[in-house]
Amino acid sequence: MKRVLILGGGFGGLATTHRLKQKLAPDDEVILVDRRGYFMVGFRKTWALVGESPLEAGQRSLDGLTSLGIRVMREPVTVIDPKARAAYIGDQRIQADALVVALGAELAPELIPGFQQHAFNVYDPQEIPRAARALSEFRGGRLSIGIFGAPYKCPPAPYEMALLINDSLMSRGIKASMEVFTPQPMSLPILGQTGCDLIESRLADKGITFLPNHKATAVEVGEVVFADKRRPFDLLLGVPPHRPPAVVRESGLVDGSGWVSVNPRTLETQFPGVYAIGDVVQISLANGKPLPKAGVFAEAMGETVADRIAAVFSGQEPNATFKGEGGCYLEVGGGKAMMVQGSFLAEPEPEVTLTEATAGYLEEKRSFETQRLMEWFG
Ligand SMILES: Cc1cc2nc3c(=O)[nH]c(=O)nc-3n(C[C@H](O)[C@H](O)[C@H](O)COP(=O)(O)OP(=O)(O)OC[C@H]3O[C@@H](n4cnc5c(N)ncnc54)[C@H](O)[C@@H]3O)c2cc1C
Repeated sequence: MKRVLILGGGFGGLATTHRLKQKLAPDDEVILVDRRGYFMVGFRKTWALVGESPLEAGQRSLDGLTSLGIRVMREPVTVIDPKARAAYIGDQRIQADALVVALGAELAPELIPGFQQHAFNVYDPQEIPRAARALSEFRGGRLSIGIFGAPYKCPPAPYEMALLINDSLMSRGIKASMEVFTPQPMSLPILGQTGCDLIESRLADKGITFLPNHKATAVEVGEVVFADKRRPFDLLLGVPPHRPPAVVRESGLVDGSGWVSVNPRTLETQFPGVYAIGDVVQISLANGKPLPKAGVFAEAMGETVADRIAAVFSGQEPNATFKGEGGCYLEVGGGKAMMVQGSFLAEPEPEVTLTEATAGYLEEKRSFETQRLMEWFG
C-alpha cells in the first residue's frame, strides 16, 4: 500500500486528490489536509461583494470527500519536512510515499501599515460581508481599489471588481470618483501594451482612473501613502501583498524568488517525491514574467502531478507534463466577460491574448464554477 499526502484542499489539492483516486489502486491511501472546512472558487468573492450572489451558494464541505474513500484531515499543517516526505498535521507526524504541497498564497495585509485599520481586504472571504456592507452603504465620493503587491492571485480580478462595482453604483444612481492603483507598470503585464490598452481604455470609458507604477507603502485615515504622494479615499478596497504560508516559508522549499521553485513541466521540487503546485509556486515564463496565479493552472498542475505519481507507483516512466495552457475570465459588466488566455509556457514568448467581451464567456465563467463543484462534490 502506498500513501500520498496532499497539503491544501483548494483548486490544486482537490484536482490532485480526485485524479489520484481515479488512478491509484483502491488500497492506496490519499490524505487531504486543510484547516478550512470548505472549497469555494475565488471569483465568488467579487459576486458576493457586489451583491450578485452570496458566498455560501458556492461553498462545499470537504467532509463530503470521505465518502469517496479520501481521508480528509481538517487541521493545520504545522511543519513540512520535505527530506522525509513528511508533515506534521497538528502534532501528528505523517510520512508518505509522495507529498504534494498545494497550500496556496497567504494574504499579508499586516505588511502595509494601516491596511487592516483603514482598508477592506477584498481577497479574504471572511472580510467580504463587511466590505459588501460598506459598499452598499456607500453614498458617493472617492472609491479606491488598490493592489498593494505583486504577484497576486488572478491578476484581472481587481479590474473586474472595478467594472462591476461601477455598474452597481450606476444602477443605484450613485456618483463616485473611482480609481484603481497598482505597483505594476501596466494593468496586466502578461498581455503586453496592446492588451493592456484594451483594459485600460475600458476603465477610462467608465470614468475609472487607472494609476500604474503606484506602490503604496501605508494607509492612513482617508489617505493612501505612496513614495512621493498621497491620494485621498472615502472607501478603500484592497488586495494585500501575497506570500507563501509560514509553514512553507519555514520548510526549505522557498528560493530567492520568495516562492517555491519547481521544475515547470513536472512540478517536482528539489526533494525526490515532493511536488508543489498552484499559487505557492513561482514559474518564470520565457519573457521572465511569472505565470499568473490562477485556479485553472493550480488544477492543471494537480492533474499532472497525480498522473506522474500514479505512473511512478506502478513502476512506469512518468510522462505527464504541465502545459501552461488556459486562462482567466474578466467580467466587464453588462452581462459580458472577456478572457485572458493562451499558452503561457510557449517559447520564445508566452502566447497570451485578450478575447473580445461576449455573453458566451460570462456563461463559461459561470459553468467553470458549476462544473468543478459537480465534479468534485457531486
Ligand atoms: C477575487 C478572485 C477571483 C479569482 N478568479 C479566478 C478565475 O476567474 N479563474 C481562475 O483560474 N482563478 C481565479 N482566482 C484565483 C484562484 O482562486 C487561485 O489561484 C486558486 O485558488 C489557487 O489554488 P491553490 O490550490 O494553489 O490554492 P488555494 O485554492 O488557495 O488552496 C490552498 C488551501 O491551503 C489551505 N492552507 C493554507 N495554509 C494551510 C495550513 N498551514 N494548514 C492547513 N491548510 C492550509 C487553505 O485553507 C486553502 O484551502 C481568483 C482569485 C480571487 C481572489
